[in-house]
Amino acid sequence: MRQSKSFIPTLKEVPNDATVPSHVLMLRAGMVRTLGAGIYSFLPLGYKLVKKVSEIIREEMDAIGGQEFHLPALNPREIWEETNRVEAFGDILFHIKNKNRDYVLAPTHEEIMTYHARRVVKSYKDFPQIWYQIQTKFRNEPRPRSGVLRGRQFLMKDSYSLDSSWENLDTAYDLHYQAYHKIFKRCGLKFFVVGASSGAMGGTGSEEFMVQSDAGEDTVAHCESCGYSANVEVAASVVIPLVRDAESKAVYEIETPNVKSIDELCAFLNISETQCAKSRVYICNNEAVLVLMLGNDEVNETKLEKTLGAPFRPAHMEELKDITGADAGSIGPVGFPKKVIADLRLKDANNMFSGANKNDYHIGGIDFSRDIPSVEYHDLRTAKSGEGCPKCGSTMGVFTAIELGHIFKLGTKYSASMGATFTDEKGAENPIIMGSYGIGVERVIACYIEQHHDERGIVWEKEMAPFHVHLIGLNMKKEVVSQAAEKIYSELTAAGIQVLFDDRTDATVGFKFNDADLLGMPLQVIVGEKKLAEQKVEVKVRKSGDRSEVTVEQLLSTVKDLLK
Ligand code: ATP
Ligand code: MG
Repeated sequence: MRQSKSFIPTLKEVPNDATVPSHVLMLRAGMVRTLGAGIYSFLPLGYKLVKKVSEIIREEMDAIGGQEFHLPALNPREIWEETNRVEAFGDILFHIKNKNRDYVLAPTHEEIMTYHARRVVKSYKDFPQIWYQIQTKFRNEPRPRSGVLRGRQFLMKDSYSLDSSWENLDTAYDLHYQAYHKIFKRCGLKFFVVGASSGAMGGTGSEEFMVQSDAGEDTVAHCESCGYSANVEVAASVVIPLVRDAESKAVYEIETPNVKSIDELCAFLNISETQCAKSRVYICNNEAVLVLMLGNDEVNETKLEKTLGAPFRPAHMEELKDITGADAGSIGPVGFPKKVIADLRLKDANNMFSGANKNDYHIGGIDFSRDIPSVEYHDLRTAKSGEGCPKCGSTMGVFTAIELGHIFKLGTKYSASMGATFTDEKGAENPIIMGSYGIGVERVIACYIEQHHDERGIVWEKEMAPFHVHLIGLNMKKEVVSQAAEKIYSELTAAGIQVLFDDRTDATVGFKFNDADLLGMPLQVIVGEKKLAEQKVEVKVRKSGDRSEVTVEQLLSTVKDLLK
């Protein structure tokens, strides 16, 4: 494609509403333009990527027996009322009122697929089915500020499996699991899978394919060595345990005026935080519970709720005073009149410091086994980066991540509420057993750019690259240059290589080089007057920056080799 005739409006400056790298680069590379908050127009280069990713997804979905649909985005509201999801989606759902009819813009398509299944799938003989589409979804995301990573209108591949048994649902789910691996691998993404199985909900009904990203809204723990991944709400970790001192001192009181936090206590007594037990009091089922954490470890609320078996809230100041006679900074376990639980790190610790249940006093010499005999130990802390993986012990990372795709065993949730049933072998009527599986198409592109860029621009690798080669004619006003470049363009194109040809006559050399690095095609072929005098051109590998000179004759084979 000739750059002189194509619309790729690159920008030198960073657009001021963009902070996330993929957002900045997609705007600067002329892939997208903003139409409104969370609403993006795809320009030709950006849309080329959309088609490319869609095609990869389509091939892998077809390979597992998926059949492609195209459902309307405009949906009668009544269908969404059947499952109560108008209410469940709330402000996320876009509504359209037209004369006397109410419509919604589909944020996903479970209801519409189930609606069709209800009409056409009747017998156990009709299964299995995998129905999919690549279609626009609408969600009124509250704060869209990461570009196409989180749009209010976006493309989703959504598929739905229909089965007559739970075993067959497992099969459909596994097929999707494998297909998603292939898709994201082909798209050159570094990803990991987080299961909901370790979550508070239990079961193995859902997994999320994630990539590390500062633009992500989930915090996850992930181990590179063994692949362990979990949302930080439920992630476990291995930390060096406390070693019990050989001798336990007796409990003693220390006057600690105005000392409230663990840091203040450590500074005041010149001790380390691993000698302190931090107290937090919660109210659960109208009863107070004292939760003890080592040093500055944070209480993980999801784990605490699982341990307590019911929702809880922090105790108010007055409640604390009623229970112990002391304020928040002075609460401690010795003599605490209610239930006491402690994080596993504190197990059997001795010679510890904590509050004295008396304002401006702390106590030392606490031996957990001797002084708090009723204490129960649980994993209550939030895993931190650099701690050990609970599966293999290697160092684990904790970071924000964004969801690329989601696979979900729906079971009979939608089929039961919408009356989508089939007749089984024995003639009994049962609800269809379903799964639903999504991938954000634009999000795949943006995540790719998040992972493949440098300070100069995007770095495409072969499978995802919009073009393989960026052919740059330096001074196209010179006939030697334009003739040679045109000839190379024809030859490479004839050999099946996709070429973006910078044939512009009015752009400076510096401008062309900056554009080429920003757009990031894997190879740049630079045609200039000086090198042509020796029958040579320059080839630059965008990723490494390596440059080499080759003769015009050798060029095709060099390009082919480098693209392998
Ligand atoms: P998130 O937690 O990021 O909002 P979600 O749980 O709402 O995602 P799903 O409803 O499971 O996402 O949708 C399936 C896929 O659609 C997601 O995995 C993601 O890749 C994509 N997706 C979801 N919301 C958006 C959005 N606002 N913009 C772009 N892609 C999106
Ligand atoms: Mg969402």
